[in-house]
Amino acid sequence: MAHILVTSGPTRQYLDPVRFISNASSGRMGAAVVDAALALGHQVTVVSGPVNLEYSREAEVRQVVTTEEMLEVCQAVFPHCDGVIGVAAPCDYRPVEVSPHKIKKNGEPLTLVLEQTPDIVATLGATKRNDQWVVGFALETEDAHFRAVTKLHKKCCDLVVLNGPSAMNADENSVELINPAGDIVATFSGPKTELCRSLFGEFERRLIRPVQRS
Ligand code: C5P
Repeated sequence: MAHILVTSGPTRQYLDPVRFISNASSGRMGAAVVDAALALGHQVTVVSGPVNLEYSREAEVRQVVTTEEMLEVCQAVFPHCDGVIGVAAPCDYRPVEVSPHKIKKNGEPLTLVLEQTPDIVATLGATKRNDQWVVGFALETEDAHFRAVTKLHKKCCDLVVLNGPSAMNADENSVELINPAGDIVATFSGPKTELCRSLFGEFERRLIRPVQRS
């Protein structure tokens, strides 16, 4: 049995007490990965942004709001895990200034200045031990394969799961699993629950069992 960290769902970056930047991630793909891991007897800690679904009670669930909070919890948990699967869609940018009061409209255009947030998978990948593994996800609209392989290397991933924008907030998905050599080692499509079971079979075969044997 492995202890697996799964990041899931979107994060939020607030501009003022009531408004935030986020994205359409539902957490469904993350929940399906969690269920697939639990079904194979693994221990799962899921670090999730705000979602409208319940993760399995068998998983330890850590709720967060911002990308920075997600990173903080992941950095605390990852040293105790065998691997991480980064399914979350954390916000890549945050407002440089957060207003303590609700921003009032004044008829003028409003300019938001944004700065990049930390990359969670890249941060964990850069510090992973030899006995740990990292799986990243890539959602691409152009040059998909090239960008996914570049991401795999940049974030020190052992495998990357490539999907398209139709994956967002949908029941079904279609993915390619890519290894560090850039080969597509498996393709799956269909309902996210079934797809994740097949996908997790590949993680198990390629990452989890070989590590457990050593
Ligand atoms: O660079 P991009 O956002 O496309 O990379 C996607 C992968 O990186 C996913 O595994 C996602 O969970 C992870 N990611 C992250 N922290 C971010 C942005 C993306 O862990 N700030």
